[in-house]
Amino acid sequence: MTHLVNDAADFADQALDGLVAAHGRYIRKVHGGVARATETDAGQVAVVIGGGTGHYPAFAGWVGPGLAHGAACGNIFASPSASQVYSVLKAASRGGGILLSFGNYTGDVLNFGRAADRLRTEGVDVRIVAVTDDLASAPAAESDQRRGVAGDLAVFKVAAAAAEEGMSLDDVERVAQRANDHTRTMGIAFSGCTLPGADHPLFTVPAGKMSVGLGIHGEPGIAEVDLPTADEIARLLVDKVLFEKPQDHGRRITVLLNGLGTVKYEELFVAYRRVAELLEHEGYTIVDPEVGEQCTSLDMAGLSLTVVWLDEELERLWTAPCDTPAFRKGAMVERKRVSNKKQDDEIAGIPESSAASRALAGRFAGALADVHRMLVDNESYLGGLDAVAGDGDHGIGMVRGARAADESAQASAGAGARTLLVRAADAWAERAGGTSGALWGMAIGTAARLLDDQSVPGQDVAVRATTEAIDAIISLGGAEVGDKTMVDAAIPFRDTLVAAKGEGLGGAWAQAVAAADEAARETADLAAKRGRSRTHAEKSIGTPDPGAVSFAKIVAVLRPHVSPS
Ligand code: ADP
Ligand code: MG
Repeated sequence: MTHLVNDAADFADQALDGLVAAHGRYIRKVHGGVARATETDAGQVAVVIGGGTGHYPAFAGWVGPGLAHGAACGNIFASPSASQVYSVLKAASRGGGILLSFGNYTGDVLNFGRAADRLRTEGVDVRIVAVTDDLASAPAAESDQRRGVAGDLAVFKVAAAAAEEGMSLDDVERVAQRANDHTRTMGIAFSGCTLPGADHPLFTVPAGKMSVGLGIHGEPGIAEVDLPTADEIARLLVDKVLFEKPQDHGRRITVLLNGLGTVKYEELFVAYRRVAELLEHEGYTIVDPEVGEQCTSLDMAGLSLTVVWLDEELERLWTAPCDTPAFRKGAMVERKRVSNKKQDDEIAGIPESSAASRALAGRFAGALADVHRMLVDNESYLGGLDAVAGDGDHGIGMVRGARAADESAQASAGAGARTLLVRAADAWAERAGGTSGALWGMAIGTAARLLDDQSVPGQDVAVRATTEAIDAIISLGGAEVGDKTMVDAAIPFRDTLVAAKGEGLGGAWAQAVAAADEAARETADLAAKRGRSRTHAEKSIGTPDPGAVSFAKIVAVLRPHVSPS
């Protein structure tokens, strides 16, 4: 339960504003997140991190000399959008190239990847290392599919220390990859977490039980066991983490015992006492361990154990000094503050448009308002579908995105059709977060780019804009029919629309809506192969895919807005 909330929709922004107010010595606000408040040597590789809000100190708490150069900050448990990441990359870049590192979640992979691609077209060398330390999230044979959790800190710290030493981008990428390959985490929880403004937790753990192998976004664990003593928990975590050692493991390690939100430091120390004994008994020397909150999950009660196997280079980088709001080591040389000049993020002016295009823009605005209303009505239904095997945020995320798009459209007076939709698409992606937010932002933006601010497109252009929008979802998300995603509804929608377009757009659209609706319902028979639900694929059988359901509902709402001509 979150006690200090104004409007839940503003929670993440207000938390970030407060963090910057409290730690202006280290960080400054930029569009989409934070960057260092102090000067960094020109030519240094910049390490940019990020992810959703709700994990403090991850991620904005780790920006400062010796650690990250910037952090892109999304909404609660939701990835920052590509445009937000891009803006943080621009602010953090020092001319030496950029290493982008984040936990391996679909939404983050999409958005950070798109931001990296955009910067690459400007000639900046950007490399990506997605952290995959969470043992519970995929078997060893698919370790590249695993989630990033508290091990994030080890990978970010090592990479940033390498950058601080003046290493090249190749070497910074190499050590980050090596740190990730040498890091393993396992977590347990005694209770789930509740999103700010929500009235029930994303999952619950029965009294007297604990959940093993949970994620940090309310993804439930993979097993429930009777609640043991602290020493028995220490033993379980150590056994699980040591079960899968890296190939070239040595005897020197560092250890993070991480509180997930509401476990007291004293409790962590009780557990750590035993963790250290067990690891030393196994012959390990523990170097600079950390016991405390590193990567939290709002108010989840639980803890995780991370072990990082060190070699000489990793140990030097792990123990190097750093100075950030939430993580400090040794002593850094005092640095000058950068001038506080605002980022160049003012919204571009509205281009000239024709009266006909403005009228079409007005119709788009009306459609977005209807989509927004429909999603508000279905928020808890969609959230419930996502809670079965995912993280329960699909309703909240879709409403956030649609509200932002609706508000942006209302505020775009004088804009033509293309400009209105491009702005609405960016607003949707920036506010929604999550995988679906990135995909819907991309889809709307793709459709918009087939229009202009002068002419009123005919039926052919409308069909082409719709099919290209759906193709963008497919190519960005990489999902195929049968993976149990929105693509399962989108492809029958697209194919029916194209096949029936000879009968007129209105009629073809209605047939396509029926096809999408049926396909969305049929996803109940499938096991999820993509996105967060993948970890609990079997649990998802019997429940339709939330993204497929919302897709079918959105195209249905658009039906009366589609020109019958
Ligand atoms: P998140 O999974 O980041 O919490 P949401 O809960 O808002 O995001 O959206 C979940 C939906 O996103 C899923 O139900 C699925 O339809 C869709 N989805 C997930 N991964 C993909 C993908 N790779 N391609 C297309 N759709 C996807
Ligand atoms: Mg979700």
